[in-house]
Amino acid sequence: MILEEARRSVAAYGRKLIEARLTRGTGGNLSCYDRRQDLWALSPSGLDYFSIKAEDVVVLDGEGHVVDGLERPSSEWELHLEVYRRRPDVAAVVHTHSPFATVLACLGWEIPAVHYLVGFSGMKVAVAPYATFGTAELARSTATALGDDGAVLMAHHGLLAVGSDLVRAFNVAEEIEFVAEIYWRAKAVGGAPLLSETQMKAALERFRDYGPRPKV
Ligand code: 13P
Ligand code: ZN
Repeated sequence: MILEEARRSVAAYGRKLIEARLTRGTGGNLSCYDRRQDLWALSPSGLDYFSIKAEDVVVLDGEGHVVDGLERPSSEWELHLEVYRRRPDVAAVVHTHSPFATVLACLGWEIPAVHYLVGFSGMKVAVAPYATFGTAELARSTATALGDDGAVLMAHHGLLAVGSDLVRAFNVAEEIEFVAEIYWRAKAVGGAPLLSETQMKAALERFRDYGPRPKV
């Protein structure tokens, strides 16, 4: 099976999306890109995450043509591809309908520097304008609003998180859902003071060498 390891990871992280309550039903989708082979593995459309097997995960090329897979690719395939085209540093994309991020996205509220973990995205988490799901318009506007950040809210829809692999992209989705909840709860009791630009820049600097020892 081509891209077997990547397809197994997409299936496994799909189940984790449900277990971590980052999405529900068949909402959301995820992918990872093998830049060496210029092929990527994308979750199938509208399938229960617990029934997805590696063979169901769809393999596409850099033009978006389906190369392998038993099922139809996610309806958001153009969204994933648009991000990979604009961001050579990104090799995994996770799209969720996680509840607190989605509440803020529905309100059209970006997430300011309320907590240092906003740094998983950047100085803030922006909101991309609404467009119909599964369209090239949504792909373009969301990739534009994402810019060089790690995550972006999608108005009246959900969240998009990116990373250099699925572990990191999933982690960004989890942390941004956490800060969305914190921001919402803080707002509910009158709001919280924000970190300054200097404080956020210092946190972003620390993030550069945060995490496990790099693999050699
Ligand atoms: P798919 O099941 O086609 O991936 O669509 C789910 C979704 O979240 C659309 O935005
Ligand atoms: Zn969606």
